[in-house]
Amino acid sequence: MVEAKRRLTVAIVGRPNVGKSTLFNRLVGKRLALVDDTPGVTRDWRAGEARLGGIELTVVDTAGLEEVFDDSLEARMRRQTERAIERADVALFLIDARAGVTPLDHHFAGWLRKGRTPVILVANKAEGAAGRPGLLEAFELGLGEPVPLSAEHGEGLADLVEALLPYEPKPEDAEPDEEAWDEALPDPAEEGAEAEAEEPAPEEPKALQLAIVGRPNVGKSTLLNALVGEERVLTGPEAGMTRDAIAVEWNWRGQPVRLVDTAGLRRRARVDGKLEKLAVADTLRVIRMAHVVVLVLDAHAILDKQDLTIARMVVEEGRALVIAINKWDSVEDKGAALKQLRDRLETSLPQVRGIPTVTISALRGQRLDELLDVTQKAYALWNKRIPTAQLNRWVRGMVETHPPPLVEGRRIKIRYMTQVKARPPTFAVFVNKPVDLPEHYVRYLVNGLREAFEMPGVTIRLLLRKGS
Ligand code: GDP
Ligand code: GDP
Repeated sequence: MVEAKRRLTVAIVGRPNVGKSTLFNRLVGKRLALVDDTPGVTRDWRAGEARLGGIELTVVDTAGLEEVFDDSLEARMRRQTERAIERADVALFLIDARAGVTPLDHHFAGWLRKGRTPVILVANKAEGAAGRPGLLEAFELGLGEPVPLSAEHGEGLADLVEALLPYEPKPEDAEPDEEAWDEALPDPAEEGAEAEAEEPAPEEPKALQLAIVGRPNVGKSTLLNALVGEERVLTGPEAGMTRDAIAVEWNWRGQPVRLVDTAGLRRRARVDGKLEKLAVADTLRVIRMAHVVVLVLDAHAILDKQDLTIARMVVEEGRALVIAINKWDSVEDKGAALKQLRDRLETSLPQVRGIPTVTISALRGQRLDELLDVTQKAYALWNKRIPTAQLNRWVRGMVETHPPPLVEGRRIKIRYMTQVKARPPTFAVFVNKPVDLPEHYVRYLVNGLREAFEMPGVTIRLLLRKGS
């Protein structure tokens, strides 16, 4: 069988213990059956096939290779990496966000920067607060914004998909010939020379990854079908394919939108009698693949416990949340239903004020345009960046209005603030004694940011860093 698309080959590289094997296993999982059988390439690395967010990947792992050679660690790493990226379209350069950037990482980065293979910097082990300092340090490597990831917990895969998308081979791309492969090799003899880094391919607007989640029977499948007219379905291998195989993508006012996990949704839709329970693990997996998550509620049972569980997951995962109240066509007292929703949101999800909500009827196709508009706005806010000068002006004002408390007679001082990443908006605040800054003050800053910079409904993350 001839494949329509060439696979994207990615090599996982980095010093020992940063999590290369863990990421390889996370991506390739049980599909490892397909190992590299090119003559002469036994055992030097593992290769396997994977599918991530609709991208077909061949993943090459270099872990464990350091045992093959016996000279210096640097030389061994260098050699194993050279050989792996020979065949790769893009290198995933892993660092350990918990350990921070080490001299070996620096050394490695310097070398990778000179090569011609595009490099995506990945800050692994970034789950929870412990990984955050390393994220900041990672900028020092001069390889652009790091993609925060937790290979072990499977977090951050959507960001990884996004970073990989520009390199995804187009369907018309032919298999490159031998010479093209050779050309792509970094020439070790050129190490000292300043090879120009290759310009990344011109970028199309990145697809908004949209997930539809909710309890059984709220109308997810109906919504999916209403959103996706048959003509919008670009690819759809049918029976027998794995759930990730169906990618549905369309344009909404110039913004490409890609629906996540439509195959799973369709399959669930076929289950008779709707007896299946809310599969939390499934939902979490889908949320992690998405940028914006539409939580579908049934207008007749708004925000019950299960709904709230999902909403909290979305917020904790740092995704943009949009609430769609479905079956609005069959609601008699619309005012009461809206009031109920507002009250529940305020008491149950106070950490994110202003979550956008839209009343829809998936069955009748009502207000779906509005839902997509709101989704797009939430996406824009989730991507928002605020210039450092503005932030610092703002934070000085906040401190004047309401100074941080005294601890042991000394004032906690906020020195400086900067946005370290978007998606969701994440800010570093440099404080002389970060551990002493009380939680209520952090909330004061987060709510203030939300108001001053107009970011309703978006998860905002604040990282406290020591700065004297
Ligand atoms: P490799 O030498 O680069 O292949 O690293 P491994 O994949 O063997 O991982 C090294 C160690 O880091 C193992 O103990 C993993 O369990 C751990 N690890 C890998 N990924 C993560 C992660 O995302 N978070 C945390 N906390 N630990 C991880
Ligand atoms: P899922 O389990 O969340 O995928 O829910 P379905 O899409 O299968 O819908 C469950 C039931 O709700 C079906 O009987 C649908 O016809 C019905 N339903 C879905 N959307 C609407 C709506 O907008 N209005 C009304 N009245 N019923 C709806």
